[in-house]
Amino acid sequence: SPRVVIIGLGVVGAALADELTARGLTDVTVFDQGPLYITGGSSSHAPGFVFQTNGDRTMTQLAQRTLDKLDGVSLNGQWLLKRVGGLEIATTDERLHDLKRRRGLAASWGVPGELIDPDECARLWPGLDVSGVLGGWLTPTDGIVKSAAAVQWQAERAQDRGARIVGNTRVVGIERSGGRVTGVKVVPVPAGSAEPDFVPADIVISCAGLWGPGVSRDLLGFELPMQPMEHGFGYSAPVPSLKGANVPTDEAKRPMLRHQDFSLYLREYVDRIGIGAYNHRPIPLEQSEIADADTFAATGVHPAMHPLTWDDFAPSWEEAQRLLPELRGVEFESGFNGIFSFTPDGGPMLGPVPGTDGLWLAQAVWVTQSAGVAQVVADWIVSGDPGIDTHGLDFNRFDPAVVSRRFTRERSSESYDEVYDVRHPHTPTQRLRGLRRTPFHQRYEELGAVFGEGGGWERPLWFEANAGLVDQLDTVPVRDEWAAQNWSPIAAAEAHATRSAVALYDLTALPRVEVFGPGTTALLQRLLTTNVDVAIGRVVYGMMLDEQGGILSDVTVTRLDTERYMIGTNGNLDLVHLTTQAPEGVWVRSLSSGQGGLGLWGPNARAVLESLTHDDVSNEGFGFFRAKQIDIAGVSVLALRVSYVGELGWELYVSADNAVFLWDALWEAGQTHGIIAAGRRAFNALRLEKGYRAFGHDMTREHTPAEAGLSFAVRMAKDDFLGKAALAERPVTTRLVPLTLDDPTRVVLGSEPVFVPGTTDAVGYVTSADQGYTIGASIAYAWLPPELADPGTTLEVEYFAERLPATVRTEPLFDPEMAAIRR
Ligand code: FAD
Repeated sequence: SPRVVIIGLGVVGAALADELTARGLTDVTVFDQGPLYITGGSSSHAPGFVFQTNGDRTMTQLAQRTLDKLDGVSLNGQWLLKRVGGLEIATTDERLHDLKRRRGLAASWGVPGELIDPDECARLWPGLDVSGVLGGWLTPTDGIVKSAAAVQWQAERAQDRGARIVGNTRVVGIERSGGRVTGVKVVPVPAGSAEPDFVPADIVISCAGLWGPGVSRDLLGFELPMQPMEHGFGYSAPVPSLKGANVPTDEAKRPMLRHQDFSLYLREYVDRIGIGAYNHRPIPLEQSEIADADTFAATGVHPAMHPLTWDDFAPSWEEAQRLLPELRGVEFESGFNGIFSFTPDGGPMLGPVPGTDGLWLAQAVWVTQSAGVAQVVADWIVSGDPGIDTHGLDFNRFDPAVVSRRFTRERSSESYDEVYDVRHPHTPTQRLRGLRRTPFHQRYEELGAVFGEGGGWERPLWFEANAGLVDQLDTVPVRDEWAAQNWSPIAAAEAHATRSAVALYDLTALPRVEVFGPGTTALLQRLLTTNVDVAIGRVVYGMMLDEQGGILSDVTVTRLDTERYMIGTNGNLDLVHLTTQAPEGVWVRSLSSGQGGLGLWGPNARAVLESLTHDDVSNEGFGFFRAKQIDIAGVSVLALRVSYVGELGWELYVSADNAVFLWDALWEAGQTHGIIAAGRRAFNALRLEKGYRAFGHDMTREHTPAEAGLSFAVRMAKDDFLGKAALAERPVTTRLVPLTLDDPTRVVLGSEPVFVPGTTDAVGYVTSADQGYTIGASIAYAWLPPELADPGTTLEVEYFAERLPATVRTEPLFDPEMAAIRR
């Protein structure tokens, strides 16, 4: 059995020790710098509210797994999980409306719940002042987890299976050699003058919680985007009305209460009320501001507890008293600023550390997801198959080009600020804007671009310069108030202009890598589902799969030379995958930062290009899925005849220094051909009309190509490729298909549940959705059971508690003959 060392016995480390030993690993050691089992980390202090519903499906699944594991468990006669239920109240119309959206999310991910009226809220929470309450959202299976007890219970289970759990021992070094982890160095706490001991290990997993950024920075040498933050939590003195209501072993009877309009949450603690406050300024901490193990040993003050900053907390206490009249006249007893980790996107930091076999992270995890995360990481380590979509969990999802201490601090502070906000899925980040600008940025500003943000890049969503085109539309699309946020009917005009004339889209931010060196072709042949050993200048669409045949990414591969390829990827995870798989001599480097990228698409694209180049860009001279280095207006450009919007045209990649010159030439030449600049909103609508998938939104490693409708991009006749053997075995259990809403004037945004009419359990959920402006249809791609995925099947999509009739369609909805793209 491999020798495993886990750093940290919080709720994550303990759960992981339990899961690894349950999977038969017999040599597992956990070191914690603090005493057992109350180590002084976040898990020693979490009040343990576990609300399962999350905008992200995977995060909900992890929460469900945590609760399933702890259901019915007890330690020393005390429960670990009590499903008291969760109650979210609305005191504003906006929140009341949003509760309906939350009901949809819950239905999509399989969390039971119901919308209730104020009277029912009052019945469930006797004593709640419902005078300002407009309604509630009740999730009966949510519950309280005693996190410190969960640590002990899981650690003891691991110990029973032979694990060693060692307290007061700090890991001060992670040793690596020959691309492998070899062990850790530990010192006792307090260390005194002791020399570190070396403990050999084949697998080391850091579960260091709020010390995680320091472990990465100091012991591993890289910056990890997770941010310890202070968060106010306090207790009332005993409440007269609760006297005798709960015996200590009950602890709580009424549901956990969330009053999100005030960023406040509450629960019973026997005869007290515990109050958590997100309503205060973000208080991010540097590692140096968190007590080290020696200081904890010397002072006894838990590192994850800082003194309560009363000015931050006072408004929440007052609001709690307003909401719960039983608290009026009751003293505030005690409180603290607890410390736990936030991340720029709210996701955890899991996964293997590239370049060092056997080294893993499992950090930035809440109690809510803890046991689920441990199961996933244990599966990932033991079998190589995490069994769940990992693209939002893997810490490598962040582009190193944006990760810095400032990025982490600002974006995590934003996450803190917004934790209970009604947040539209398309709302762009407000902090650290302008971090990355494409070479064309100034031109975009001149055209009145409205920008969104992705991967640090400023990305045009639509251009106000195109506002006049809206008047020329036969029908101007309208949207309800929610769907109209971060949207403009200009997107429809830009989509139409793309199909009728020509448009320039920004592609700079699309992640691209160059892979080169002897052995590159063999590497890509092994990783890709399609044949890449094609003539130089050919472009190939294919997928990279995991061992189980799940989709890791769909990519566009351009053969530039015998052993040199450009790959259009889905982000840093692909770069890491390619780098990890690459043999010596094969190099992988990111191209996005040093280039400008444009999509020149539309029926007039060729006319524009012809006027600027001597190269042959005719259909015969420059065929579909071909690439050439061509001269456009004196600038050397890598042109790919492909189009994500389904139109004639080219992707044009140019070095950053030439980029604006190229833009100006195209813009000028395009004037007689009706050229416009177009943004991402039009882009997304057009790609859905054409049925082109977006990895991460439409499909993940949970799906096979056949399930995702991408069998055409798998060549089973090809020599072995990663995942091929598994594909042959895997049945199709779900299918991604397009629905159109029967009322084309309505639109949904994604993640909505899909129902068979007249039934109450969702049969599937929407992935990407948008108006198909140029086909007069409202499109919603959805995962459905195969038996409900045939064209013509009538279903319903629930949107804010309203059932919208919808029908499964044959795809693609636009140009199935490929006439537009091949002209
Ligand atoms: P921790 O519990 O911090 O454990 C990390 C461990 O690593 C520590 O024991 C530490 O001593 C050890 N360690 C670190 N470095 C080393 C080293 N070099 N050598 C040896 N040992 C090391 N979550 C919810 O889901 N719901 C809630 O309602 C909730 N509310 C919260 C309220 C408060 C006030 C706080 C503080 C947290 C709350 N959380 C909540 C968050 C939750 O507590 C944490 O996210 C979770 O406990 C983190 O667990 P962990 O195991 O990653 O980290």
